[in-house]
Amino acid sequence: MNSVVNLSIAGKSAVGDIAFIDLKAQQRRIRPAIEKRLQAVLDHGRYIAGPEIDELEETLAERTGASTVIACASGTAALIIPLLARGVGQGDAVFVPAFTYNATANAILLAGATPVFVDIDARTFNIDPKDLEHRIAAVRAEGKLQPRAVIPIDLFGSPADYRTIAAIAAREDLFVLSDGAQSFGGELDGREVGGLAPATATSFFPGKALGAYGDAGAIFSMNSLDRERWASIRWHGTDEARKESVRVGFNGRMDTFQATILLEKLAIFNDERDARRRIAADYDRALSDIARPQTQIEGANSGYGYYSLCVDNRDQVVKKLKAMGVPTAIYYTTPLHLMPAFANYAPANGLPATEKVASEIFSLPMHPYLTPEQVDYICDAVRQAVS
Ligand SMILES: *Cc1c(COP(=O)(O)O)cnc(C)c1O
Repeated sequence: MNSVVNLSIAGKSAVGDIAFIDLKAQQRRIRPAIEKRLQAVLDHGRYIAGPEIDELEETLAERTGASTVIACASGTAALIIPLLARGVGQGDAVFVPAFTYNATANAILLAGATPVFVDIDARTFNIDPKDLEHRIAAVRAEGKLQPRAVIPIDLFGSPADYRTIAAIAAREDLFVLSDGAQSFGGELDGREVGGLAPATATSFFPGKALGAYGDAGAIFSMNSLDRERWASIRWHGTDEARKESVRVGFNGRMDTFQATILLEKLAIFNDERDARRRIAADYDRALSDIARPQTQIEGANSGYGYYSLCVDNRDQVVKKLKAMGVPTAIYYTTPLHLMPAFANYAPANGLPATEKVASEIFSLPMHPYLTPEQVDYICDAVRQAVS
């Protein structure tokens, strides 16, 4: 999700400037607390591996029910580390939707493994378990690659179907690594993202639901034994005393400043998530009869990192909304299997649901500081634009 550009998208409307994501309003709320935290780091000077890193890892583990959490440099590092730790690499097939940010497929290829693209469910926009089963069977039948792992993505914040995926993974002996880069705060059956799969990677890129003021990410494990290996890979593959290399690793660390920002944002996260969910419910109510908003599987409650919906004449709708001062974004116009870097891995018959959704989808402004007047205005604007 390249939100670098979108962080500054805004439109002038009759109800004031509407931001796609409003980090300024959020900063006004927490700035004094953040300044205090930053000052504390300047005073103790432990810019790497400061005490705030431990505090953040403990806070995240407590919150999500994960057995252990490793703070890392980015969402991409958070995806690569568990793959390396498992020895997923050359000759291994990793099943992944093509309807995601490029980082997910990059992580698989950087680990040396082969991505096998799986179609999505056209309503949830997440991996289709039926198609997953078909593709596993096809890889086994072909006999060239060994099925090793599946990376479901919780697109826009909505958890994938982990109940079904866990059953398939158990039967097929696959490692489940959840890409929760967009879904921090999302829930399934009353449990939070981070505690829904054996391993979960998340990103704290500034534009995500929980964002740092720079690059950052985290990995969650349901098995505390993962901690030693993951922490070692994050620190150039060194032993616990950090003297010798005992495996291949890289610099996958989060810096201490980012941890302080995340700790202060975590303090207001639930309140912000409630606001996002209220806005999403308003959008759903106002737009479900004229558009196709993302639906969630039973028992899921999205964290609403983003609010996305499908319409027939998407490009026109987006243009009209822009003229009315409503900023939008399109995630994703091009699915990964149609991009040059991943074209070698495109399935022969394409991915029908993925390609259809990519031509119909767009995202509306989603942040906790939208006013009720702005939400009403946006809903009216979408109704006008669609008709
Ligand atoms: C943002 C994102 C990533 C990558 O996170 P970075 O912190 O930018 O490395 C990976 N997967 C998905 C689905 C994302 O949205």
